[in-house]
Amino acid sequence: MTSDGDWALRSRNAVWHPCTQMKQHEQAPPIAIARAAGAWLYDYDGRRYLDAVGSWWVNLFGHANPRINAALTAQLAELEHVMLAGFTHRPVVELSERLSALAPAGLSHAFYASDGASATEIALKMSFHYWKQQGAAGKTHYARLAGGYHGETVGALAVTDVALFRDAYAPLLRAHPVLPSPAARAGHRDDAEGAVDAALAALEAFLAQHHASTAALIVEPLVQGAAGMAMYAPRYLVRARELTAGHGVHLIADEIMTGFGRTGSFFACEQAAITPDFLCLSKGITGGYLPLSCVLATDDVYRAFYADELAQGFLHSHSYTGNALACRAALAVLDIFRDDDVIAANRDKALRWGRMAQPIAAHPRVRNFRQCGMIIAFDVEAAEAGFARSFAAEALARELVLRPIGNTVYFMPPYVVSDADFALLVERTLGIIDRR
Ligand SMILES: *Cc1c(COP(=O)(O)O)cnc(C)c1O
Repeated sequence: MTSDGDWALRSRNAVWHPCTQMKQHEQAPPIAIARAAGAWLYDYDGRRYLDAVGSWWVNLFGHANPRINAALTAQLAELEHVMLAGFTHRPVVELSERLSALAPAGLSHAFYASDGASATEIALKMSFHYWKQQGAAGKTHYARLAGGYHGETVGALAVTDVALFRDAYAPLLRAHPVLPSPAARAGHRDDAEGAVDAALAALEAFLAQHHASTAALIVEPLVQGAAGMAMYAPRYLVRARELTAGHGVHLIADEIMTGFGRTGSFFACEQAAITPDFLCLSKGITGGYLPLSCVLATDDVYRAFYADELAQGFLHSHSYTGNALACRAALAVLDIFRDDDVIAANRDKALRWGRMAQPIAAHPRVRNFRQCGMIIAFDVEAAEAGFARSFAAEALARELVLRPIGNTVYFMPPYVVSDADFALLVERTLGIIDRR
């Protein structure tokens, strides 16, 4: 029987963990997970942990979900993978049709990759290439928002605005203009409406002056996750869509985190009733099972690449583009959404979670308690240096997986977390806040 300790030590020597200063694992080794079920993870020593962050925002319907497992097992017996150039298969066709049907009208063409950052890269390249093919080759820049996060490959990092991830690589990154965020939190403002107005005024002025050099505006609709769950009103998206369309600039909606019901609607864009030119999806798309990402593009974009010349096509690929197993997991996820009427059920669940979390909202050390659908976040006042790390460690000691961003603590559990487990999450989180 191998214990947690053995795997943790071997992992420290052999595995280079993501988003981690490996030296910190001298004090707090990684936790080796032996198995998982529903919202709970179990280690080799029999301890359990409530996955209150959905394993980095990917898990929707719990670990070891029997329906997704069954779909994958069936798919394994048929086809695991075939290259998508020159070939196709039923899961990728069905998934593309169903995603288009669920997305804002007009997003009828699905291009696949494996991770969120790759979806960002695809949208950026497609946008630039589209304009070039329209004779507007000078559109070589992308407008991005303060606090925005779109992934960490070199192109995606260039449109991301998180200093900790960017600064080391600054000389490698193209300089793209940063516009004010409509989220009060990311703009360090107190008034939500004022933040939206200021961001819109800045966007309008920017586009009037720089539309000729700007291919696209890239945004995270409604919630800027990595900025600390910075939330803003749909009216920013409504007006941003009008302004970008009016100035001949694309709108890229990065719904890698917000998609698949996180904000209460299936896609966050629905709450503004807009159709972006590109919709980037990943994370929840496979329910947290397999890496898959997708860019849905409009027919207008698609047609600009449709030509006799090879080089006018979108010559971008990843080895695992449209992987059959990942697509089948995504189909199982869509089946669950449909068969269980998940969005409607989540509406009640979000209300319950909000009510159950009221003792946190009312805590004297808690500021800016906020909720957008299935995401709850709040800031802890007078947080000490190293707050996020020590809070996470105390959470683990109480069987909770929490990863604060700065002084922001957030809950993004799988939708299937029981009310009893959510109550436990609230009560133990309060215990950590109280002890500080
Ligand atoms: C996570 C995330 C990404 C990057 O996705 P990866 O799969 O980690 O590359 C991009 N944009 C948003 C909004 C995200 O939350």
